[in-house]
Amino acid sequence: MQILHPFSGSIQQYAEQTIDPDLYRPDHCPQCEARQPLRGHGFYRRTLVDAAFDGVIRVRRYLCGGCKRTVSLLPEFALPWLRFSIAVISLFLVARLLKGLTLAAAALAAGQAAMPYQRGQFWIRRFNKQAPALSVSLVPLAAPAAAADFVSRALAMLEAIGWITAHRFLFSQLRTHLLGWPHSLVPPGRCTTLTSALPGS
Ligand SMILES: [Zn+2]
Repeated sequence: MQILHPFSGSIQQYAEQTIDPDLYRPDHCPQCEARQPLRGHGFYRRTLVDAAFDGVIRVRRYLCGGCKRTVSLLPEFALPWLRFSIAVISLFLVARLLKGLTLAAAALAAGQAAMPYQRGQFWIRRFNKQAPALSVSLVPLAAPAAAADFVSRALAMLEAIGWITAHRFLFSQLRTHLLGWPHSLVPPGRCTTLTSALPGS
């Protein structure tokens, strides 16, 4: 199970801080009733691309002595299963879908001038599909924006809330992914209920 690392500094600061397993050790298991601190259980590595970073980060893992399952602390600037940071993806989507820039200009705005246009199209496709659910899910954090369609509304709400803050809420409270889970990774829990309550989302 992935939970979010309660950390919001630079990627470099993150790399320095994850060396100490005690710093952000969860005091109990989020998956069972065992009320004991989790044990450090090494790291897994994942790639990440941000404005000033393109490389591998380590994600701290813990093991529950009760249920023997692992918990990993994903830094909140990164999204599960996507290589690019929330900052990069959000800059691209806002430039393309809210400001109406071309794919190339939106990639430039996101600091990814050389990226293949298919990548941007993939993010747009995912976001278009997820926008109705986001517009509903984010209501506790922001009044629904007056907008012509779900995509504009979701973008306006994300901009008002802040993308990382919105992601923290969606991921921690609803197990919802900003760009939607791929079918194979949908976690059990409320997001399934929410999605099925919104036909066509
Ligand atoms: Zn447990």
